This record gives sequence, structure tokens and C-alpha cells, in this order.
Amino acid sequence: MSTGVSVAEMEPFHFEGTEIAPGTGVEVSLELGDGPAGNRRSIPVYILHGTSPGPVMGLIAGIHGDELNGVSVVHHLIHGDDHIANTDDDTIDRTQLSGTLICVPVVNIEGMLLEQRGAPDNRDINRLFPGKKEGNQSQRIAHALFEGVVKRSDYLIDLHSAPHSRTNLPHVRADFDLKDCLDLARAFGTQIILHSNGPKGSLRREASKHDTPTILLEAGTAHRFEMDAVHAGIEGVLNVMGHLGMIERKARLPAVRLLVRRSKWARAEAGGLLYSLVKVGDHVKKGQKIALITDPLGAKTHTIESPRTGVIVGLALNPLVRAGDPIANIVLCSATKWRRAQVEPDTQDPEEESVDDEESVDDA
Ligand SMILES: [Zn+2]
Repeated sequence: MSTGVSVAEMEPFHFEGTEIAPGTGVEVSLELGDGPAGNRRSIPVYILHGTSPGPVMGLIAGIHGDELNGVSVVHHLIHGDDHIANTDDDTIDRTQLSGTLICVPVVNIEGMLLEQRGAPDNRDINRLFPGKKEGNQSQRIAHALFEGVVKRSDYLIDLHSAPHSRTNLPHVRADFDLKDCLDLARAFGTQIILHSNGPKGSLRREASKHDTPTILLEAGTAHRFEMDAVHAGIEGVLNVMGHLGMIERKARLPAVRLLVRRSKWARAEAGGLLYSLVKVGDHVKKGQKIALITDPLGAKTHTIESPRTGVIVGLALNPLVRAGDPIANIVLCSATKWRRAQVEPDTQDPEEESVDDEESVDDA
């Protein structure tokens, strides 16, 4: 969406007292006040400001301190594969960018250092948006992000992974009842999109309510850089930027896309030690054995069968299970359709199917 405006005519972008010239990328931060050792606490932010007018998009990772795949997605989008900005392999050319990309690689820095989901006070920041200026430490982090980044963004992508006890096939979650969110989710280009308006206080719910359409990526598991999940994130963000006219890009979308209103978890009917027989992305038939449960000496005590025919989107990784624990999140889909969804993504107009099973993703 080049408008032909020259660099000289494009206004600089201002962030917390720093002026960012068109066609540049600049490191800035959101200040949070001192830590226990008198150390300065802040959220690092990197701003790519384009040379022609366009939307402001926020890209946020690490609200949960142990979810690292999204952190790597942001790193690659800022610096390219060699991790050196302004070299040939950079994914986003600042001089060709329309609009502004606000990158937040890690919101919950102290949670990351502690290798935990919550802030040092153990609260989940992703239940506290829009935050409180004079609230507790986690509410203040939420407030700083909401005021500094969310309110300034026209669109937002929030990058997450499953908790350490589970893993997810990369998929986008969005509120299907908000057209702008669903459009962003379709543009991102995962084969599976799950409907979810997000829990109360979650970034995607509160930001979307404040007129910043927001989608969430769930990719892989916590505590890891998993490059398949990272690349799915990079591709998706670039697809969305192309869709919004921020960069020149031919969308690369899957041949088949499932819009899932509800999906169902297969659950353990007995406790014990879990041996999973499937991986995320596998297609399973109704009645197919997907896991074994053993006693402490390893003898099989139970078999878990798939309650439906479909695709494994989420999977338990923790071998310790109790009756009722979720084992596999399965999205209804025929084997033929899922095979078609696997072809190299380069479609412009995917075949779309709606799936409505009996349980919501938020119930896990
Ligand atoms: Zn998360």
C-alpha cells in the first residue's frame, strides 16, 4: 500500500520521550520503577518506524515469563536470522515499511528470569489488563503495557505457548464475533483457528474491547525455543503485515482452514503415568488408541481412545495424570481434509470449514 509519500514527509514516531525517525529501528523501554536491589526495572521495546503512512501494529511476547517461542519470533522479526539488524537477511526492511511495528519481546522480564509464568508476586499478568497505575506490581506492568503499547496500536498480536505441562500445534485464537479479529486470524494463516474471546482481564479481550483488534498465537510449549513454532509465528506475523499493507507480501495461506468454535479434550479416566502415542498435528480416528496409562512399575492399567475423528491440536506432556486431566485437544476433521491442509501454504483463498464440537477451548 505505497502512498508515494517521501521519507521527508513521514512524521517521526514518539515513544516515551524518544523520537524515532522514519526508516529506522530504535530500542526504547517502558519504565516500571526499581527492583529490590535498586536495579532499574523496565520492559524492553523495539520500534520499527516505516517510511510511509500505515497502521501501528503491536507485537507482544513473554507476558507469561516461561513462554519463549514468541520471544524468538520477535527477535527474528527485528534482526533477521543472523540476529544482526540492518543486514541482508532482515525480514522487515525499515525503508520499505508502511506504518509502525511496536515490538515487545518480553513483557514479564522478571518472570522469565525466574522461569515462571507469573510475575515475582506469582500473579498472572494476563488476567489483569488493562492494569492499574497505582495497583500491585503485576497490575502496574499490565498498566504500563496497556497505556504505552496497546492504546497506541491499531492492531495487536499476542504470542504465547502452552504451559510446560502441554504443547500446542501452532494455531491462532480469536473472537469470531469480532470481524476485525477474525480477519486478522484468517490473514495470519494457521490451518486451525480457535474461537475464544479470552478470559476476563486477558490482553486480547481487553485490547479488543478498547478498539484494538487482537489475536493470539499459541505455539509449542514453555521453556523452549522450538524453531517450527517460531517459524510459524514469523510467517504469520508477516502475513498479517502484508494483509494490512505494511509490507509487500503475497500471502501464503494453507489450502484448508478450520474455524473451530469448540473442540473437545480427551481426558484421563484414571490416574497414573501417561505414555502418549500421538503428536500434535497427527490425525486420529475415533476409537484409536492415543495414550496408555501405567502403574508406578510401568504395567499398563488403562488405554485412552480418541473420542472423535480429528486433529490433535493440544497434547499433555506431563506423564503424571489424575482422573479428569486433559490429555489431547482434538478438532473434528476428516483425514482427507487434513491431508489437503498439509500442502505447502501458498494459497490466497483457502477452503474454509466451521467446526463446532461440544466443549470450549477455555475449559481445559
Ligand atoms: Zn501464555
